[in-house]
Amino acid sequence: MIHLSTIPVEDKTVITPDWKELLSQSKLSTQDLLKLVRLEKHPLASESAEKLFELRVPKPYLDKIEKGKADDPLLLQILPQLAEHTNTAGFTNDPLEEEKYSPVKGVIHKYENRVLLIASSTCVINCRYCFRRNFPYSEHTQSKSDWQEALDYIRKNDSITEVILSGGDPLIHSNNYLFWLLGEIDQLTHVKRIRIHSRLIVSLPQRIDAEFIKALGEINKPIIIVMHCNHPNELGDELALATQQLSDLNVTLLNQSVLLRSINDQAEILKQLSEGLFEIGVLPYYLFILDKVTGTAHFEISISEAKKIHQALQASLPGYLVPRLTIEVPGQESKTSISHNTNQIINL
Ligand code: SF4
Repeated sequence: MIHLSTIPVEDKTVITPDWKELLSQSKLSTQDLLKLVRLEKHPLASESAEKLFELRVPKPYLDKIEKGKADDPLLLQILPQLAEHTNTAGFTNDPLEEEKYSPVKGVIHKYENRVLLIASSTCVINCRYCFRRNFPYSEHTQSKSDWQEALDYIRKNDSITEVILSGGDPLIHSNNYLFWLLGEIDQLTHVKRIRIHSRLIVSLPQRIDAEFIKALGEINKPIIIVMHCNHPNELGDELALATQQLSDLNVTLLNQSVLLRSINDQAEILKQLSEGLFEIGVLPYYLFILDKVTGTAHFEISISEAKKIHQALQASLPGYLVPRLTIEVPGQESKTSISHNTNQIINL
């Protein structure tokens, strides 16, 4: 891990601008993946699960997987598995009922004061536990001209003070497209800030190139980037360089994780993650209970188990490094915080 203070200023440009090439190489087959991680076979793998959800992973993320290790926590997040074919009671295609909250194409408006834009239909990495793995992206895919209806919706609704770019991953777009959209939002006077949710920044930190930094510096509204990092092995020097450049622009950097069986379901792992995030200028924000999407039950941690893990995490860290244990409940006015000692839930 690079410590920020040890990076000479002139070395901040060492991130190579070849992210588009890395992006174009991210589609793989299960067989290719197993060869690249030097496993002849894997007891959980299923090529047919690729048909349920394509296998995508960029090389910088692959490089962090320990070779020959079948239970590597990064490998298990991307490996198509036989268990994805299992139908489990309570798991559905749209567990958050997002389609109910879409007033116009590309917009999800669940909570007062903030609106979410489906700014992209794809990701550079396909996380097998993804809550939007069955999302009807084709109904929300937007060209520049298509965005006018969504922008008009925000323009006419002056209670909206925050616009959230989500997806898919908004950073998968070219700078031209992404900064056109950010520029349009930047002009909406009642919008106070813009939030970008991205796992791409973790799986392909080379995306934060000089052109991106320059263009982001020209946006006037405060920017918040919520990264999606689940395990300390996902951190690294390239990500540290990316977050340093974003910190230099006064971007607020937060992280959210999903609590996942056999991946990060131990307080010690989550502690290392929080410590590592802080070293690169990122504060842990949310630790989510898995959304019950079809084909992901093998990742589930029960709420009672989650409370114990979170309690142990809280005992080992200062409060500002403890992410909030949270669940998203359809129909609630906000995300829901889980308390340790009672069944009490607190709306966030
Ligand atoms: S990056 Fe996010 S939206 Fe994309 S597959 Fe992973 S969890 Fe889903």
